[in-house]
Amino acid sequence: MIFSCTQAEFVRQIYDRLGKGKRHAAQLYSQWFKTGEVNPSTWAEPQALSLVEEMLQYMDRTLPPVISQQQDGDTTKFLLKLADGLETESVLIPMQAGVTLCISSQVGCKMGCTFCETGRMGLLRSLTVSEIVAQVFVARFGFKSPVRNIVFMGMGEPFDNYDNVMQAIKVLTDPAGMAFGSSRLTVSTSGCIEEIYRFMEDADPAVNLAVSINAPTDEIRDRIMPVNHQWNLQALKKVLIDYCQHPRREILIEYVLLKELNDSLECADQLADFLQGLKVKVNLIPYNAQRKSRFQPPEEEVQESFAKRLFEKGYQVLLRRHKGRNIMAACGQLGNKDQRKAWFS
Ligand code: SF4
Repeated sequence: MIFSCTQAEFVRQIYDRLGKGKRHAAQLYSQWFKTGEVNPSTWAEPQALSLVEEMLQYMDRTLPPVISQQQDGDTTKFLLKLADGLETESVLIPMQAGVTLCISSQVGCKMGCTFCETGRMGLLRSLTVSEIVAQVFVARFGFKSPVRNIVFMGMGEPFDNYDNVMQAIKVLTDPAGMAFGSSRLTVSTSGCIEEIYRFMEDADPAVNLAVSINAPTDEIRDRIMPVNHQWNLQALKKVLIDYCQHPRREILIEYVLLKELNDSLECADQLADFLQGLKVKVNLIPYNAQRKSRFQPPEEEVQESFAKRLFEKGYQVLLRRHKGRNIMAACGQLGNKDQRKAWFS
């Protein structure tokens, strides 16, 4: 249970069970999350060791095993096997500013974006808080990776697993534990408006929000993102305007470039119009080919022209380099439909 608790929650649970040991529980928690080890003899008095042993029995620090690890250049994708046999997928991506860890919030996804491998799996289930936090713990202590940023951009729509994702953020940012700064975390949504409003209420304003727009008009977005039937671009714009009212908040706009669908200069102009009045950075992601797909990425010149047009209109634009494409670890490539077959067979 330790992976689902902040230090204060862990201490309270231990105290409720044992009626003592608050200080030792707090130290135990910190040692575990800061070093990945439990070694009470380094900090507990000899007479307290049996108490700490008792705590360890309640702590449940079982981690899902790593069942696969693939490398493409400096990018590493790893799979964890969950207790029910399903698998999570996470990706370690070294960037200029440090290592970014992309984690999953669900196995599969119900949002059905047509360009996304995970969307083609459907939703198998949401991850528990422990299963989300375990991905970070394994990256940091199993792979010994100096993870600097965490992005909820792996499998799943994080806002379809809202409560667990928010609790995982509390655990990951607990200064007594792994102590990630809130600004090091980014939650990415396909545009679940009700949850964006909840997020505005609940989250530290420093936690970043990314929104997958992927189309500048409802006509195009309807074709690739079923969420647009429920919350169209007009509704999305309204919540994003409200979101930007906070002085510390800006939005990362994600836009997957799909050849001859949303990559024209007219689309760039329409996107620029849509984004007017919002505090945004735009992340352009040339489509990453899937196992079997009807989509293609645009030619590089087309990608660059699109980026240049947005830049000329005053937007901060990042045209992403492909990382992890050869191991199906790039954006939109996570997930494996075989898991779905196995799960329902
Ligand atoms: S892009 Fe994101 S929201 Fe859409 S299907 Fe894929 S994982 Fe789900």
